[in-house]
Amino acid sequence: MSHGAPLTLYNSLSRSLERFEPIDPANVRVYSCGPTVYNYAHIGNLRAYVFTDTLSRVLTWKGYPITHVINITDVGHLTSDADAGDDKMEAAARKNSTSIWDIAAHYTAAFKQNLKDLNIREPSRWSVATDHIQEMIAFGEKIAPKHCYQLDSGLYFDVSTVPDYGRLAGAQEDVREGRIDTVEGKRHPQDFAIWRASAPGENRQMEWDSPWGRGAPGWHLECSVMSEKYLGSPFDIHTGGIDHREIHHPNEIAQNQAYCDCDDTGARWWMHNNFLVERAGKMSKSSGDFRTLQKLIDAGVHPLAYRLMCLSAHYRSELEFSEENLAAALTRLKRLAITVGQLRDRPEALSAGSALAYRERLDEAVSDDLNTPKALVVLDELLGDKKVAPADRLTALADFDAVLGLDLAGLRREDLRVRPATADFAEADIAARLAERRDARAAKDFARSDAIRDELAAQGVEVMDGDPLGWDWRPTLA
Ligand code: AMP
Ligand code: ZN
Repeated sequence: MSHGAPLTLYNSLSRSLERFEPIDPANVRVYSCGPTVYNYAHIGNLRAYVFTDTLSRVLTWKGYPITHVINITDVGHLTSDADAGDDKMEAAARKNSTSIWDIAAHYTAAFKQNLKDLNIREPSRWSVATDHIQEMIAFGEKIAPKHCYQLDSGLYFDVSTVPDYGRLAGAQEDVREGRIDTVEGKRHPQDFAIWRASAPGENRQMEWDSPWGRGAPGWHLECSVMSEKYLGSPFDIHTGGIDHREIHHPNEIAQNQAYCDCDDTGARWWMHNNFLVERAGKMSKSSGDFRTLQKLIDAGVHPLAYRLMCLSAHYRSELEFSEENLAAALTRLKRLAITVGQLRDRPEALSAGSALAYRERLDEAVSDDLNTPKALVVLDELLGDKKVAPADRLTALADFDAVLGLDLAGLRREDLRVRPATADFAEADIAARLAERRDARAAKDFARSDAIRDELAAQGVEVMDGDPLGWDWRPTLA
């Protein structure tokens, strides 16, 4: 198809909106920093992948074939983004007295299930860090002579050897320096490990031989190596959460410049999603009790309600998570599902209006740096436009589903009744109990009617009298 409205995307490198021109229109190449699989993803992490999925859906819908790579970090990520602390994977394995490989497999599978629940499309390729150790060593060997120095603790990158180090972090300079813990002997606080030698007597499950001693790669190395291997250099777009703008991505850029022996940053666009925050503070995986998607589902919330919540904010805005915001998103999703259901029930009604303008407005919204909140408003207007025949509204809905991934054409309102993990009811009985209750009310036996309501409540079923959305019951949110 044609590319429609011109696509503009915010480039963190220039801190401005830029017109997107692919390097090769037949193959737009995108790399997204993936999860560190030492624990479940929290819902903040998942916001990063709703964002990349939106980007990939918009590119695809606008007619650009894409190659999308997401990595799985199963080695090297320390408890601090700089070079201090413990390896997150090793620490998790020790804590659970299990093999690191089992930890990685378990949390990788859980992450992929999260993406599936959120209707996030699989990337063209998952690339796993530990499958690329030899390539990382070769990369290190190539850049070491001009850009690195060796200490007892490993091989370090000297950031003064590349032009404009930290340009991406920009105004955040002071903050960044403040966050870096120093390693004995580093030439500059921002210098970072390419290879971390195992300390004498250190007992690591994952370690490899290298020219700089037995040990493991530094965390930043994997993304430079795997993006170059699978996407070449330069490729089109590199994504990650906004925290990566300060350390991880500047370090990737430095490595890329060293590798190509040029000023090129490796990717034309560096794009960052803002954080999901809670009033209580930053969401973090390392603090024991955190919010996972599965916990929301167990509480009776359909996962697409969380996706809708993410889409209701622009990806560059901070988004505050609260029970109320999530409940509002669930209600909005129910309304959408009900409206679509009604259109499906009477698609034959005739009207003269055209849905074409809605497609154009969708295009304009998402081509404006992925403005999904605006696209959702256009969707509401489309579904409610009585001048457009229901069948035509449903046809246009397919475009919104392609871009927003809410699966509204396939979602039934019954699907939105997610059974909470603690619920104690059998769906089949509920209709019978509700019929019984209607009979009691008709006979003005209100004591009986209230008793049935209370019995259902004890089983986790909330009776909904006069619900504006027309639900007669819903599971009580845990
Ligand atoms: P990690 O598994 O910690 O390496 O993080 C996976 C992705 O989630 C990275 O792109 C992070 O930048 C991103 N991220 C981490 N915390 C949040 C948050 N609270 N909101 C949005 N994205 C986040
Ligand atoms: Zn990365």
